[in-house]
Amino acid sequence: PGKRVLIVYAHQMPTSMNGSLKDAAVTELSNQGCQVTVSDLYSMNFEPRATRQDFLGASSNSEFFNYAEEAHEAYKKGCLSKDVVEEQKKIQEADLVIFQFPMYWLSVPAILKGWLDRVLCKGFAFDIPGYFDKGFLKDKSALLSFTTGGTAEKYFQKELRGDIKYILWPLQHGVLHFCGFQILRPQINFAPEHASESKRKEMVASWARRLETIWDEKPINCTSSWYFEK
Ligand code: FAD
Repeated sequence: PGKRVLIVYAHQMPTSMNGSLKDAAVTELSNQGCQVTVSDLYSMNFEPRATRQDFLGASSNSEFFNYAEEAHEAYKKGCLSKDVVEEQKKIQEADLVIFQFPMYWLSVPAILKGWLDRVLCKGFAFDIPGYFDKGFLKDKSALLSFTTGGTAEKYFQKELRGDIKYILWPLQHGVLHFCGFQILRPQINFAPEHASESKRKEMVASWARRLETIWDEKPINCTSSWYFEK
């Protein structure tokens, strides 16, 4: 109760499995008295490209364009574009950020990758030094909630794709933990398209049930052993 949650949601169809999982989270967390904000990236027509348009006013280096450096300078001067600033404000106000998406090419959809690229800029989310356990978002938790096309069996047959945890190393460790986030274990719903209606309903219900006690959960130990050792 009283906790604040940001759901960053990337699916085109409100009636998709991802849409239902997002709705279930909004309902459960709101019922608990949490303040829930949703960034519905496709509805917002969120700009995924990292370009000069992200900075208002003159470049800090007019001879050579370096996006990361320009973003850092613009953050410090308060001249990042409005859409980026709004997302940063939502993160700042959140205790927990849930990412809800269908897995695309063992990663996030491009629109969500663009959100990570543009919003988690140097100065706001991290600095050098000032990353991993010293990352600026260290007082917050992050949780990946996603669906796949492949079934669980396919993922656990190592010769096909390898353990799904390997895939999470770049996103959970390389991006989110790098920025300081504490990582809660992922919510993975395998192959909803190949599941029966009742199995799909159970996927949504079990996500809602997990959220009932989400504030009691401890973060994973986000080091290489979680990902790569049995
Ligand atoms: P949907 O098609 O929306 O859901 C399936 C069914 O559930 C629908 O019929 C819907 O009506 C129904 N449904 C919705 N809500 C409910 C509810 N409350 N109760 C019961 N039923 C409900 N997969 C991989 O495994 N690995 C990859 O690398 C990968 N790369 C991809 C790359 C691209 C570019 C694309 C487009 C897909 C890729 N996929 C991959 C597949 C993708 O991950 C799946 O298609 C996706 O996760 C399925 O989720 P969805 O929400 O779109 O499913």
